[in-house]
Amino acid sequence: MVHNVACPECTVMGSPVTVQTIIHHVQQPWLWQKDQQDEAWDYYFCASQGCTTVYFSSQAQIKQDELRLEVGVKSSNEDTLICYCFDVSRKNASHPDIKAYVIGQTKAKQCACSVRNPSGRCCIKNFT
Ligand SMILES: [Zn+2]
Repeated sequence: MVHNVACPECTVMGSPVTVQTIIHHVQQPWLWQKDQQDEAWDYYFCASQGCTTVYFSSQAQIKQDELRLEVGVKSSNEDTLICYCFDVSRKNASHPDIKAYVIGQTKAKQCACSVRNPSGRCCIKNFT
């Protein structure tokens, strides 16, 4: 059952995220896996700007500084990535040709959002 849960830091609702997504974004994921032990905690992604928590569960939080890359949707920096599959920054996302390219590749199922995007989801809604 997919449902949203409030971020413990900013109280904005986070969306469910898989372990597969998290282990492709945390630094030294072998350490994070070890911390989990046998617990199958449900993790959520927080997209709100200014909040330092990226992933959270009822037991733990994973902060921006524990990840390999800056999370574009949480930043106002023009150079951070919005589309991780095709390397599109916030600045480039407003370009119609680039947006069309990303939409075309997504329709052709050439994207890899579930592992490349920290949210684990398609980035198209973040294009202006
Ligand atoms: Zn938050």
